[in-house]
Amino acid sequence: MDDLSDLYQDIILGHNKRPHHYGELNPHTHEAEGYNPLCGDRLCIQVREKDGSLEAAGFTGEGCAISKASASIMTDAVKGLDREGVAKKIGEVLELLTGREEPVVDLMEQGDIAALAGVRKFPPRVKCATLAWHTLAAALSEEPRSVSTE
Ligand code: ZN
Repeated sequence: MDDLSDLYQDIILGHNKRPHHYGELNPHTHEAEGYNPLCGDRLCIQVREKDGSLEAAGFTGEGCAISKASASIMTDAVKGLDREGVAKKIGEVLELLTGREEPVVDLMEQGDIAALAGVRKFPPRVKCATLAWHTLAAALSEEPRSVSTE
């Protein structure tokens, strides 16, 4: 299993070094800010929804390697999904990170999301990994933090 842990760690570090979709997303239809006071991670997640699907997702902010890698992985994972698909994906990741059962992960099937399972071994860092996903859920909810460019 150690080889797998190394692989997961490489995936996380790779995303941290070269985050995908880092930067302001213009135009965007929804955004939210997320803050993890335990670690000091601050993320702003922006998405563009078109015809019921997420056309693009991006993020800005500062945080630890795990929070940034998780946001980067998220922007890849939710692209092209409809609301139902996004909700399912968020649920899948939160279960992976915080579920009571040790998750069965499949790198081929889940892609880089599988690497997030490695964070379970470091309980204080789990909130770093869940931050982007909670923030995405907030962005898509009907709360005042959601803004529209229309
Ligand atoms: Zn963190």
